[in-house]
Amino acid sequence: MLDYLIVGSGLAGISFAEIALKNNKSILVIDDKSQNSSRIAGGLYNPVILKRFSEVWNAKEHLVLMNEFYDQVEDKLKEKFNFKMPILRKFFSIEEQNNWFAASDKINLAPFLSTKLITKKYQSIDSPHDYGEVLHTGYVKTKQLLESYREYLKENNLLLEESFHSSFLDFLDSGIQYKDIKARHIIFAEGFGLHKNPYFNYLPLDGTKGELFLIKAPDLKLDVIVNTSVFILPIGGNLFKVGATYNWHDKTDLPTEEGKKELLDRIKEIITCDFEIIKHFAGVRPTVADRRPIIGTHEEYKSIHLLNGLGTRGVMLGPALAKMLFDNIEYGTPIDKEADIKRFHKRYLKSINAFRP
Ligand SMILES: Cc1cc2nc3c(=O)[nH]c(=O)nc-3n(C[C@H](O)[C@H](O)[C@H](O)COP(=O)(O)OP(=O)(O)OC[C@H]3O[C@@H](n4cnc5c(N)ncnc54)[C@H](O)[C@@H]3O)c2cc1C
Repeated sequence: MLDYLIVGSGLAGISFAEIALKNNKSILVIDDKSQNSSRIAGGLYNPVILKRFSEVWNAKEHLVLMNEFYDQVEDKLKEKFNFKMPILRKFFSIEEQNNWFAASDKINLAPFLSTKLITKKYQSIDSPHDYGEVLHTGYVKTKQLLESYREYLKENNLLLEESFHSSFLDFLDSGIQYKDIKARHIIFAEGFGLHKNPYFNYLPLDGTKGELFLIKAPDLKLDVIVNTSVFILPIGGNLFKVGATYNWHDKTDLPTEEGKKELLDRIKEIITCDFEIIKHFAGVRPTVADRRPIIGTHEEYKSIHLLNGLGTRGVMLGPALAKMLFDNIEYGTPIDKEADIKRFHKRYLKSINAFRP
Protein backbone atom coordinates (compact mmCIF):
# COMPACT_ATOMS: atom_id res chain seq x y z
CA MET A 1 0.00 0.00 0.00
CA LEU A 2 1.28 3.45 -0.98
CA ASP A 3 1.43 6.28 1.51
CA TYR A 4 0.15 8.94 -0.90
CA LEU A 5 -1.68 9.05 -4.22
CA ILE A 6 -1.44 12.64 -5.50
CA VAL A 7 -3.79 14.03 -8.16
CA GLY A 8 -2.11 16.92 -9.99
CA SER A 9 1.49 17.77 -10.76
CA GLY A 10 1.29 21.56 -10.82
CA LEU A 11 3.19 23.60 -8.22
CA ALA A 12 0.91 22.24 -5.48
CA GLY A 13 1.19 18.58 -6.48
CA ILE A 14 4.96 18.51 -6.98
CA SER A 15 5.51 20.41 -3.72
CA PHE A 16 3.58 17.75 -1.84
CA ALA A 17 5.29 14.93 -3.77
CA GLU A 18 8.74 16.27 -2.90
CA ILE A 19 7.96 16.78 0.79
CA ALA A 20 6.51 13.28 1.03
CA LEU A 21 9.53 11.72 -0.72
CA LYS A 22 11.92 13.66 1.50
CA ASN A 23 10.15 12.07 4.47
CA ASN A 24 10.61 8.59 2.99
CA LYS A 25 6.96 8.15 2.04
CA SER A 26 5.88 6.17 -1.02
CA ILE A 27 3.92 8.14 -3.61
CA LEU A 28 2.30 7.99 -7.03
CA VAL A 29 1.26 11.10 -8.97
CA ILE A 30 -1.55 11.22 -11.56
CA ASP A 31 -1.78 14.07 -14.07
CA ASP A 32 -3.52 14.57 -17.41
CA LYS A 33 -2.26 18.12 -18.20
CA SER A 34 -5.84 19.39 -18.20
CA GLN A 35 -4.79 22.58 -16.35
CA ASN A 36 -1.75 24.68 -17.15
CA SER A 37 -1.66 27.52 -14.63
CA SER A 38 1.68 26.45 -13.12
CA ARG A 39 3.28 25.77 -16.49
CA ILE A 40 2.57 29.19 -17.98
CA ALA A 41 2.94 31.29 -14.81
CA GLY A 42 5.31 34.25 -14.74
CA GLY A 43 6.95 32.48 -11.80
CA LEU A 44 7.60 35.70 -9.84
CA TYR A 45 7.78 35.82 -6.09
CA ASN A 46 7.33 39.08 -4.28
CA PRO A 47 6.57 39.47 -0.55
CA VAL A 48 4.64 42.74 -1.04
CA ILE A 49 1.25 43.45 -2.63
CA LEU A 50 2.37 46.64 -4.35
CA LYS A 51 -1.10 47.81 -5.33
CA ARG A 52 -2.15 48.09 -1.69
CA PHE A 53 1.25 48.28 -0.02
CA SER A 54 0.57 45.36 2.25
CA GLU A 55 2.65 42.35 3.16
CA VAL A 56 1.75 39.10 1.44
CA TRP A 57 0.16 36.66 3.91
CA ASN A 58 2.94 35.13 6.10
CA ALA A 59 5.53 36.37 3.60
CA LYS A 60 8.59 36.04 5.86
CA GLU A 61 7.93 32.46 6.82
CA HIS A 62 6.84 31.40 3.33
CA LEU A 63 9.93 32.93 1.69
CA VAL A 64 12.19 30.86 3.94
CA LEU A 65 10.31 27.62 3.22
CA MET A 66 10.15 28.45 -0.49
CA ASN A 67 13.91 29.03 -0.81
CA GLU A 68 14.70 25.84 1.14
CA PHE A 69 12.33 23.88 -1.07
CA TYR A 70 13.67 25.08 -4.43
CA ASP A 71 17.29 24.65 -3.21
CA GLN A 72 16.46 21.05 -2.35
CA VAL A 73 14.83 20.36 -5.75
CA GLU A 74 17.74 22.04 -7.58
CA ASP A 75 20.20 19.81 -5.69
CA LYS A 76 18.20 16.73 -6.48
CA LEU A 77 17.61 17.41 -10.19
CA LYS A 78 20.98 19.16 -10.74
CA GLU A 79 19.31 22.07 -12.48
CA LYS A 80 18.71 25.73 -11.56
CA PHE A 81 15.10 26.95 -11.30
CA ASN A 82 15.11 29.75 -8.71
CA PHE A 83 16.64 33.04 -9.87
CA LYS A 84 16.94 35.93 -7.44
CA MET A 85 16.25 39.20 -9.22
CA PRO A 86 15.17 42.62 -7.95
CA ILE A 87 11.66 43.83 -8.73
CA LEU A 88 11.62 47.56 -9.49
CA ARG A 89 8.38 49.45 -9.11
CA LYS A 90 8.27 52.21 -11.71
CA PHE A 91 6.90 55.47 -10.24
CA PHE A 92 4.56 57.51 -12.40
CA SER A 93 4.50 60.56 -10.10
CA ILE A 94 6.11 62.19 -7.08
CA GLU A 95 3.01 61.18 -5.12
CA GLU A 96 3.72 57.50 -5.88
CA GLN A 97 7.28 57.98 -4.70
CA ASN A 98 6.02 59.51 -1.45
CA ASN A 99 3.59 56.65 -0.90
CA TRP A 100 6.46 54.20 -1.32
CA PHE A 101 8.62 55.88 1.29
CA ALA A 102 5.69 56.11 3.71
CA ALA A 103 5.08 52.37 3.24
CA SER A 104 8.75 51.49 3.69
CA ASP A 105 8.51 52.97 7.20
CA LYS A 106 5.92 50.40 8.27
CA ILE A 107 7.38 47.75 10.52
CA ASN A 108 6.16 44.76 8.48
CA LEU A 109 7.16 46.24 5.10
CA ALA A 110 10.54 47.70 6.10
CA PRO A 111 12.44 44.45 5.42
CA PHE A 112 11.03 44.31 1.89
CA LEU A 113 10.94 47.89 0.55
CA SER A 114 14.29 49.55 -0.07
CA THR A 115 14.48 53.19 0.99
CA LYS A 116 16.99 53.93 -1.78
CA LEU A 117 15.51 55.53 -4.90
CA ILE A 118 16.74 53.68 -8.02
CA THR A 119 17.65 56.37 -10.54
CA LYS A 120 19.28 54.11 -13.13
CA LYS A 121 18.03 54.68 -16.70
CA TYR A 122 17.15 51.49 -18.58
CA GLN A 123 17.26 51.61 -22.37
CA SER A 124 13.76 51.88 -23.91
CA ILE A 125 11.96 52.72 -20.66
CA ASP A 126 11.11 56.31 -19.73
CA SER A 127 11.29 56.74 -15.98
CA PRO A 128 11.37 60.43 -15.03
CA HIS A 129 10.21 59.56 -11.49
CA ASP A 130 12.62 56.64 -11.03
CA TYR A 131 11.95 53.32 -9.26
CA GLY A 132 11.58 51.72 -5.83
CA GLU A 133 13.18 48.33 -5.22
CA VAL A 134 11.42 45.39 -3.56
CA LEU A 135 13.85 43.13 -1.71
CA HIS A 136 13.95 39.29 -1.48
CA THR A 137 12.33 38.84 -4.89
CA GLY A 138 12.97 36.73 -7.97
CA TYR A 139 11.38 34.17 -10.22
CA VAL A 140 11.17 30.42 -10.65
CA LYS A 141 11.27 28.88 -14.11
CA THR A 142 8.07 26.96 -13.50
CA LYS A 143 7.78 25.26 -16.90
CA GLN A 144 11.31 23.84 -16.67
CA LEU A 145 10.77 22.89 -13.03
CA LEU A 146 7.56 20.98 -13.77
CA GLU A 147 8.95 19.28 -16.87
CA SER A 148 12.11 18.16 -15.07
CA TYR A 149 10.20 17.06 -11.98
CA ARG A 150 7.72 15.05 -14.05
CA GLU A 151 10.64 13.48 -15.93
CA TYR A 152 12.16 12.48 -12.59
CA LEU A 153 8.83 10.99 -11.45
CA LYS A 154 8.46 9.12 -14.74
CA GLU A 155 11.96 7.64 -14.58
CA ASN A 156 11.13 6.34 -11.11
CA ASN A 157 7.71 4.98 -12.11
CA LEU A 158 5.99 7.51 -9.89
CA LEU A 159 3.84 9.21 -12.54
CA LEU A 160 0.66 8.07 -14.27
CA GLU A 161 -0.15 10.27 -17.26
CA GLU A 162 -3.91 9.92 -17.31
CA SER A 163 -7.09 11.56 -16.00
CA PHE A 164 -8.29 10.80 -12.52
CA HIS A 165 -11.98 9.78 -12.44
CA SER A 166 -13.60 9.82 -9.03
CA SER A 167 -16.06 7.06 -10.03
CA PHE A 168 -13.15 4.60 -9.60
CA LEU A 169 -12.39 5.74 -6.05
CA ASP A 170 -13.32 3.38 -3.21
CA PHE A 171 -12.79 3.68 0.52
CA LEU A 172 -11.01 1.04 2.62
CA ASP A 173 -10.63 0.85 6.40
CA SER A 174 -6.98 1.77 6.03
CA GLY A 175 -7.22 4.30 3.19
CA ILE A 176 -8.45 4.38 -0.40
CA GLN A 177 -8.40 2.24 -3.50
CA TYR A 178 -8.27 3.77 -6.99
CA LYS A 179 -8.53 1.10 -9.69
CA ASP A 180 -5.80 -1.33 -8.55
CA ILE A 181 -3.87 1.27 -6.54
CA LYS A 182 -4.19 1.25 -2.75
CA ALA A 183 -2.98 4.19 -0.68
CA ARG A 184 -3.27 5.43 2.90
CA HIS A 185 -4.10 8.92 1.64
CA ILE A 186 -5.11 10.72 -1.50
CA ILE A 187 -4.15 14.38 -2.02
CA PHE A 188 -6.19 16.39 -4.49
CA ALA A 189 -4.04 19.17 -5.99
CA GLU A 190 -6.03 19.76 -9.18
CA GLY A 191 -5.95 23.55 -9.35
CA PHE A 192 -9.05 24.85 -11.12
CA GLY A 193 -9.79 21.21 -12.11
CA LEU A 194 -11.32 20.92 -8.60
CA HIS A 195 -14.67 21.79 -10.13
CA LYS A 196 -14.96 18.24 -11.46
CA ASN A 197 -14.20 16.72 -8.05
CA PRO A 198 -17.46 15.67 -6.33
CA TYR A 199 -15.79 15.53 -2.89
CA PHE A 200 -14.68 19.15 -2.86
CA ASN A 201 -16.68 21.01 -5.48
CA TYR A 202 -18.80 22.68 -2.78
CA LEU A 203 -15.81 24.93 -2.10
CA PRO A 204 -15.83 28.51 -3.46
CA LEU A 205 -12.90 28.12 -5.84
CA ASP A 206 -13.47 30.89 -8.34
CA GLY A 207 -10.84 30.71 -11.08
CA THR A 208 -9.23 33.88 -12.38
CA LYS A 209 -8.01 33.63 -15.93
CA GLY A 210 -4.64 35.19 -16.72
CA GLU A 211 -2.95 35.88 -20.03
CA LEU A 212 0.74 36.46 -20.59
CA PHE A 213 3.14 37.13 -23.49
CA LEU A 214 6.60 36.00 -24.30
CA ILE A 215 8.08 38.87 -26.33
CA LYS A 216 11.36 39.51 -28.09
CA ALA A 217 12.70 43.07 -27.70
CA PRO A 218 16.40 43.41 -28.70
CA ASP A 219 16.46 47.11 -27.77
CA LEU A 220 15.12 46.59 -24.25
CA LYS A 221 18.08 46.21 -21.92
CA LEU A 222 16.93 44.98 -18.51
CA ASP A 223 18.57 42.89 -15.80
CA VAL A 224 15.75 43.44 -13.30
CA ILE A 225 12.00 42.80 -13.22
CA VAL A 226 10.03 45.98 -13.84
CA ASN A 227 6.59 46.14 -12.28
CA THR A 228 3.82 48.60 -13.09
CA SER A 229 0.32 47.57 -14.15
CA VAL A 230 2.09 44.53 -15.66
CA PHE A 231 5.48 42.95 -14.99
CA ILE A 232 8.32 42.69 -17.49
CA LEU A 233 10.63 39.82 -16.68
CA PRO A 234 13.90 39.35 -18.62
CA ILE A 235 14.68 35.67 -19.21
CA GLY A 236 17.71 36.04 -21.49
CA GLY A 237 18.28 36.05 -25.25
CA ASN A 238 16.34 39.36 -25.64
CA LEU A 239 13.24 37.50 -24.44
CA PHE A 240 10.85 38.85 -21.80
CA LYS A 241 7.74 37.52 -20.13
CA VAL A 242 5.05 40.19 -19.82
CA GLY A 243 1.86 39.75 -17.80
CA ALA A 244 -0.58 39.27 -16.58
CA THR A 245 -4.28 39.98 -17.06
CA TYR A 246 -7.11 39.15 -14.64
CA ASN A 247 -10.45 37.95 -15.96
CA TRP A 248 -13.11 36.63 -13.53
CA HIS A 249 -15.66 35.53 -16.17
CA ASP A 250 -13.92 33.45 -18.82
CA LYS A 251 -12.80 30.10 -17.36
CA THR A 252 -11.08 28.67 -20.45
CA ASP A 253 -7.34 28.53 -20.97
CA LEU A 254 -7.48 29.91 -24.50
CA PRO A 255 -5.65 33.16 -25.37
CA THR A 256 -8.11 35.91 -26.38
CA GLU A 257 -8.05 39.05 -28.55
CA GLU A 258 -9.27 41.03 -25.52
CA GLY A 259 -6.33 39.79 -23.43
CA LYS A 260 -3.93 40.52 -26.27
CA LYS A 261 -5.18 44.09 -26.60
CA GLU A 262 -4.95 44.69 -22.86
CA LEU A 263 -1.37 43.40 -22.69
CA LEU A 264 -0.32 45.37 -25.78
CA ASP A 265 -1.79 48.59 -24.37
CA ARG A 266 -0.02 48.07 -21.05
CA ILE A 267 3.37 47.22 -22.62
CA LYS A 268 3.23 50.33 -24.79
CA GLU A 269 2.70 52.43 -21.66
CA ILE A 270 6.06 51.20 -20.38
CA ILE A 271 8.51 50.47 -23.19
CA THR A 272 9.35 52.68 -26.13
CA CYS A 273 11.09 50.19 -28.46
CA ASP A 274 9.71 47.71 -31.00
CA PHE A 275 8.94 44.17 -29.89
CA GLU A 276 7.60 40.96 -31.34
CA ILE A 277 5.10 38.63 -29.64
CA ILE A 278 6.67 35.17 -29.67
CA LYS A 279 3.95 33.37 -27.67
CA HIS A 280 0.64 34.22 -26.04
CA PHE A 281 -0.37 32.02 -23.07
CA ALA A 282 -3.49 31.73 -20.94
CA GLY A 283 -4.41 29.74 -17.82
CA VAL A 284 -6.85 29.77 -14.92
CA ARG A 285 -5.51 30.59 -11.46
CA PRO A 286 -7.20 28.64 -8.65
CA THR A 287 -8.38 31.63 -6.61
CA VAL A 288 -10.64 31.88 -3.55
CA ALA A 289 -12.77 34.93 -2.70
CA ASP A 290 -11.06 35.49 0.67
CA ARG A 291 -7.63 35.23 -1.06
CA ARG A 292 -6.44 32.39 1.11
CA PRO A 293 -5.56 28.84 0.07
CA ILE A 294 -7.72 25.87 1.06
CA ILE A 295 -6.03 22.88 2.64
CA GLY A 296 -7.10 20.08 4.93
CA THR A 297 -9.00 16.83 5.22
CA HIS A 298 -12.49 15.99 3.99
CA GLU A 299 -15.14 16.25 6.73
CA GLU A 300 -16.41 12.69 6.23
CA TYR A 301 -13.67 10.76 4.40
CA LYS A 302 -10.55 11.02 6.52
CA SER A 303 -8.19 9.63 3.86
CA ILE A 304 -8.86 12.35 1.32
CA HIS A 305 -7.19 15.72 1.51
CA LEU A 306 -7.07 18.97 -0.41
CA LEU A 307 -4.21 21.28 -1.42
CA ASN A 308 -5.62 24.10 -3.51
CA GLY A 309 -6.41 27.81 -3.79
CA LEU A 310 -2.84 28.96 -4.38
CA GLY A 311 -4.31 31.86 -6.37
CA THR A 312 -1.81 34.33 -7.77
CA ARG A 313 1.07 33.07 -5.64
CA GLY A 314 1.69 29.40 -6.34
CA VAL A 315 5.48 29.79 -6.35
CA MET A 316 5.66 31.00 -2.74
CA LEU A 317 2.63 29.20 -1.37
CA GLY A 318 3.09 25.73 -2.92
CA PRO A 319 6.03 24.58 -0.76
CA ALA A 320 4.76 26.20 2.47
CA LEU A 321 1.22 24.86 2.16
CA ALA A 322 2.32 21.39 1.10
CA LYS A 323 4.48 21.20 4.23
CA MET A 324 1.61 22.45 6.40
CA LEU A 325 -0.73 19.78 5.01
CA PHE A 326 1.89 17.02 5.28
CA ASP A 327 2.67 17.92 8.92
CA ASN A 328 -1.04 17.98 9.68
CA ILE A 329 -1.67 14.54 8.21
CA GLU A 330 1.44 12.86 9.65
CA TYR A 331 1.84 14.61 13.00
CA GLY A 332 -1.48 16.36 13.65
CA THR A 333 0.17 19.80 13.54
CA PRO A 334 -2.66 22.34 13.28
CA ILE A 335 -3.36 24.04 9.96
CA ASP A 336 -3.33 27.85 9.95
CA LYS A 337 -6.98 28.85 10.50
CA GLU A 338 -6.93 31.23 7.54
CA ALA A 339 -6.01 28.39 5.16
CA ASP A 340 -8.03 25.63 6.80
CA ILE A 341 -10.80 23.94 4.79
CA LYS A 342 -12.82 24.00 8.04
CA ARG A 343 -13.70 27.65 7.41
CA PHE A 344 -16.15 26.33 4.80
CA HIS A 345 -17.90 23.91 7.20
CA LYS A 346 -21.31 25.60 6.77
CA ARG A 347 -21.04 25.33 3.00
CA TYR A 348 -20.24 21.64 3.35
CA LEU A 349 -23.32 21.05 5.54
CA LYS A 350 -25.46 22.95 3.06
CA SER A 351 -24.11 20.90 0.15
CA ILE A 352 -24.88 17.57 1.81
CA ASN A 353 -28.29 18.69 3.03
CA ALA A 354 -29.18 19.67 -0.52
CA PHE A 355 -29.14 15.97 -1.44
CA ARG A 356 -31.28 14.79 1.48
CA PRO A 357 -34.98 14.16 0.85
C1 LIG B 1 -1.02 34.06 -16.49
C2 LIG B 1 -0.65 33.61 -15.11
C3 LIG B 1 0.48 34.16 -14.49
C4 LIG B 1 0.84 33.75 -13.21
N1 LIG B 1 1.96 34.27 -12.66
C5 LIG B 1 2.35 33.87 -11.42
C6 LIG B 1 3.55 34.36 -10.85
O1 LIG B 1 4.26 35.18 -11.45
N2 LIG B 1 3.90 33.92 -9.61
C7 LIG B 1 3.13 33.01 -8.91
O2 LIG B 1 3.50 32.64 -7.80
N3 LIG B 1 1.98 32.52 -9.44
C8 LIG B 1 1.58 32.93 -10.67
N4 LIG B 1 0.43 32.44 -11.21
C9 LIG B 1 -0.43 31.58 -10.36
C10 LIG B 1 0.09 30.16 -10.31
O3 LIG B 1 0.22 29.72 -11.61
C11 LIG B 1 -0.91 29.28 -9.51
O4 LIG B 1 -0.99 29.74 -8.19
C12 LIG B 1 -0.42 27.83 -9.46
O5 LIG B 1 -0.03 27.43 -10.71
C13 LIG B 1 -1.47 26.88 -8.96
O6 LIG B 1 -0.88 25.60 -8.92
P1 LIG B 1 -1.75 24.29 -8.73
O7 LIG B 1 -0.77 23.17 -8.73
O8 LIG B 1 -2.67 24.44 -7.60
O9 LIG B 1 -2.67 24.23 -10.04
P2 LIG B 1 -2.34 23.84 -11.54
O10 LIG B 1 -1.09 24.44 -11.99
O11 LIG B 1 -3.57 24.15 -12.31
O12 LIG B 1 -2.11 22.28 -11.49
C14 LIG B 1 -3.15 21.36 -11.34
C15 LIG B 1 -2.71 20.08 -12.01
O13 LIG B 1 -3.71 19.08 -11.77
C16 LIG B 1 -3.94 18.37 -12.97
N5 LIG B 1 -5.31 17.85 -12.93
C17 LIG B 1 -6.46 18.53 -12.66
N6 LIG B 1 -7.52 17.70 -12.68
C18 LIG B 1 -7.03 16.45 -12.98
C19 LIG B 1 -7.62 15.17 -13.15
N7 LIG B 1 -8.94 14.96 -12.99
N8 LIG B 1 -6.83 14.12 -13.47
C20 LIG B 1 -5.49 14.29 -13.60
N9 LIG B 1 -4.86 15.48 -13.44
C21 LIG B 1 -5.63 16.55 -13.13
C22 LIG B 1 -3.74 19.42 -14.07
O14 LIG B 1 -3.41 18.81 -15.30
C23 LIG B 1 -2.58 20.24 -13.52
O15 LIG B 1 -1.33 19.73 -13.92
C24 LIG B 1 0.04 32.79 -12.51
C25 LIG B 1 -1.05 32.23 -13.14
C26 LIG B 1 -1.41 32.62 -14.43
C27 LIG B 1 -2.59 31.99 -15.10
